[in-house]
Amino acid sequence: MEDRKVLVGISEMKKYFPVKKTKLFQKERLNVKANDGITLDIFEGETVGLVGESGCGKSTFGRVLLQLYPQTSGRTMYYGRTIEEFHPKYIEELLKNIKHEIHKHHMLEEERLKLEDDIKKSPNNYDVIYNLQEKRKKSKELFLDITNIIGGFIIDEDVEKVAKYFLEEYRAKLQIVKLKNSLDTAKQKELVKLNRQLDEQKEIINLNRKLINEEKRRFDKNPKFDEYEKNLDIGINLAKLEYNEIRVLRKDLQIIFQDPYSSLNPKMTVGQIIGEGLMAHGFFKKNDDKMQNYVMNVMEDCGLSGYMLHRYPHQFSGGQRQRIGIARALALKPKFVVCDEAVSALDVSIQSQIINLLLDLKEKEELTYLFISHDLSVVKYISDRIGVMYLGNIVELADTEQIFSNPLHPYTEALMSAIPTTDNKLEEAILLEGDIPSPIKPPKGCKFHTRCPKCMDICKKVTPEFIEYEEGHFVACHLRTK
Ligand code: SF4
Repeated sequence: MEDRKVLVGISEMKKYFPVKKTKLFQKERLNVKANDGITLDIFEGETVGLVGESGCGKSTFGRVLLQLYPQTSGRTMYYGRTIEEFHPKYIEELLKNIKHEIHKHHMLEEERLKLEDDIKKSPNNYDVIYNLQEKRKKSKELFLDITNIIGGFIIDEDVEKVAKYFLEEYRAKLQIVKLKNSLDTAKQKELVKLNRQLDEQKEIINLNRKLINEEKRRFDKNPKFDEYEKNLDIGINLAKLEYNEIRVLRKDLQIIFQDPYSSLNPKMTVGQIIGEGLMAHGFFKKNDDKMQNYVMNVMEDCGLSGYMLHRYPHQFSGGQRQRIGIARALALKPKFVVCDEAVSALDVSIQSQIINLLLDLKEKEELTYLFISHDLSVVKYISDRIGVMYLGNIVELADTEQIFSNPLHPYTEALMSAIPTTDNKLEEAILLEGDIPSPIKPPKGCKFHTRCPKCMDICKKVTPEFIEYEEGHFVACHLRTK
């Protein structure tokens, strides 16, 4: 598993939707905690299935991951492109405010240490345990934000000096991107000037890299510096991108929706629906003759005849409309696709055709999928790994085979036992009592404790950590501690 490359790395992602006040003097600010601290690595070329009852936050997770909704907190690292080619603005902001950010991190660490002390004095104070867990997460998040960019220099007393070198290097790289774009359209006489400016910027990069490397010598054989230097990260934190930046990455990160009818504009022909994104992302200019051929090829790849190009969505069946949705997403040559209940609205006979199409296209286009569904049998068929979600959190994650043969979380066990089987083993279905609790005021401790047949005292007070219980098998349950 370690050899595989992470394409999207999500850690401690939260998405809260504020709820309008219902009482005149209501002081408490309430939120729907749709995603409440999700951690998940998605590897290049795999399909991760996400299952859970409706309302558990899985669709929200798919959308937040793509930043269709801004996330409340946490990190969503994307490795399909690097900061070296993308130069996000948040890097400049961090480098400009480096001293302040490091100070903020020190404060968080002080608060964390104080809470660690408090726990030693009263180990059963569950409020302190909760506060400590939250503080640890915040501190770690900020620590990673800083060390991803400046590595070991987080321990440098004179960090502003070296941050200046990083900043100049960053700005020169940005300048080079702009100059290269101008080169494409430049007239002959401008070329000499542009090339000279390019050389100047390259010199600035070399000079600042040299200065950074010289500064590193001050920390020769400093184990702490070396340890933090390993955090340097070329990924892009999607959660920190500005609107225009995430728009550029949209073509890499696509979504296929559940309801193919309502997600297609009824006033546009199929050709226009697929072509719209292609023009928005600069694949083709308006009235480019080549676009029609391209669209027809994509349609045919998705099992639609090219001659249907000028038809409207209402002239297609449900299965065909879902093929249009797939063609629209894949025309942009994405790297990562969220399939959000992509076959749930279709007849069972059509479902398998669409699933097979998705599998074929994944192979051909080297795609990575997050496949969201409430139907475990569908997820089992398509996924390499499966995550089980309950009330805003992933409670178990493992290889498909592993999760079916050895479920570790009582909620997963209950879901599995409810799947009808054709074999002779008559295992009794585990009936979960009660409804899924409100995500506005989820139960304290383990959120599943109100319905868990194995609930213990600690479960009502302390949130279980999401740990790797066996190799590649993650779970959050007090029954599974190491
Ligand atoms: S932590 Fe406790 S309540 Fe939660 S799933 Fe495990 S045993 Fe059940």
